[in-house]
Amino acid sequence: MFQNAAELLKYVQDEKIQMIDLKFIDMPGIWQHLTLYQDQIDESSFTDGVAFDGSSIRGWKAINESDMAMVLDPTTAWIDPFMAEPTLSVICSIKEPRTGEWYSRDPRSIAQKAVEYLQASGIGDTAFFGPEAEFFVFDDVRFDQTQSAGYYYVDSIEGRWNSGREEPGGNLAYKPRYKEGYFPVAPTDTMQDMRTEMLLTMMQCGVPIEKHHHEVASGGQNELGFKFGKLIEAADNLMTYKYVIKNVGKRYGKTVTFMPKPVFNDNGSGMHTHQSIWKDGKPLFWGDGYANLSEMALHYIGGILKHAPALLALTNPSTNSYKRLVPGFEAPVNLAYSQGNRSAAVRIPLTGTNPKAKRFEFRCPDATCNPYLAFAAMLCAGIDGIKNKIDPGQSLDVDIYDLSPEELAKIPSTPGSLLDALKALEADHEFLTAGGVFTEDFVTNWIEYKLDNEVNPMRLRPHPYEFSLYYDV
Ligand code: GLU
Ligand code: MG
Ligand code: MG
Repeated sequence: MFQNAAELLKYVQDEKIQMIDLKFIDMPGIWQHLTLYQDQIDESSFTDGVAFDGSSIRGWKAINESDMAMVLDPTTAWIDPFMAEPTLSVICSIKEPRTGEWYSRDPRSIAQKAVEYLQASGIGDTAFFGPEAEFFVFDDVRFDQTQSAGYYYVDSIEGRWNSGREEPGGNLAYKPRYKEGYFPVAPTDTMQDMRTEMLLTMMQCGVPIEKHHHEVASGGQNELGFKFGKLIEAADNLMTYKYVIKNVGKRYGKTVTFMPKPVFNDNGSGMHTHQSIWKDGKPLFWGDGYANLSEMALHYIGGILKHAPALLALTNPSTNSYKRLVPGFEAPVNLAYSQGNRSAAVRIPLTGTNPKAKRFEFRCPDATCNPYLAFAAMLCAGIDGIKNKIDPGQSLDVDIYDLSPEELAKIPSTPGSLLDALKALEADHEFLTAGGVFTEDFVTNWIEYKLDNEVNPMRLRPHPYEFSLYYDV
């Protein structure tokens, strides 16, 4: 919306905007915000930042100095459509006021360092990312964090309580048949108007919109599409995407979840991420290798596949992520690449003969990731692949799900749990720290945070399915 601070400040005066909402991302990936009266920001807010107490922000508490500063990025501003009074929303990065340095645990600053690392390497000047985050819409969800019972949601279409297992009954008349949600028209598709409102609202927030549709799973699974962008821009847009989708859903009396596997035995929600590198306005992934990929692109893919087990600790960072990465639901399980094949972790879409469209899609990520960290980590893996000429091996042009056990055994697979991915990250993270993008402190803190707050709390609770298995033993 604005090129610089002066333009933003002028707009606030001219349009008599009273409120400025500063948004920033915490470590696990949720936007936090602070709203200021307009006279609280000036030119210095865009350089030194606006002070706040960082001690209660998840994952940041280890710092001794709790004073932090949010530095406004004027290019990210839009009028927040969910606030009653005209309020200008601005995305911020975090500085340590004591040193004036970008905070080493601020995900958006880490993403900025990844872009700088790419430029310093001489490989390229721009990394483009295009995330495709799928989600479910439910009427309601009840969960209990302290007891063993787990969660229950109301199916949006059938309108009945569902504990995530097959239950007979309910009105199935216009419900999409199992795995046939992609994509019959109304009345089977009941979410058309809501998705259109989500998409158009997103456009008002500056996201370059493209499309929307129902997804494969029958219980209200959807996907909206926006145009790919530069690394940080794409991560900012992904945050706006989630914010708008959840808040428009709320207008309709619905809840939205980006959990990768909310429903047992149906398709989960991924966040396939398209990627390419450019230099001086020219695409570098087009060439005369496999599927018209350049050698550079193949090496980038080699880096992604080699580091995938560690990478997934950042791209698939929830315990639920690994319930999605199982065979039979269009989610990747095997670490291989292929043209057009949706069962491979890396897919090269058929994009014709336009070099500018040449890219690959990493299918593992899901939207429980922090997009700034996930994109930065994928770029680091790609750069490592290019620098070390990592061979991605043979392409896999058969349906991986159809291979014999002997053939399958030769292909490495995705980690089976968040714990496995965190262990892989512990053993393999030099590709993240080599260019100064991630600090050793960040990696250690990330692993500890995930173990203490997610892996262990899950491990310690009796699971609802254990009651089915063991209650009457
Ligand atoms: N929902 C699938 C997944 O978990 C992907 C479906 C698609 O190809 O869009 O990745
Ligand atoms: Mg999809
Ligand atoms: Mg896709």
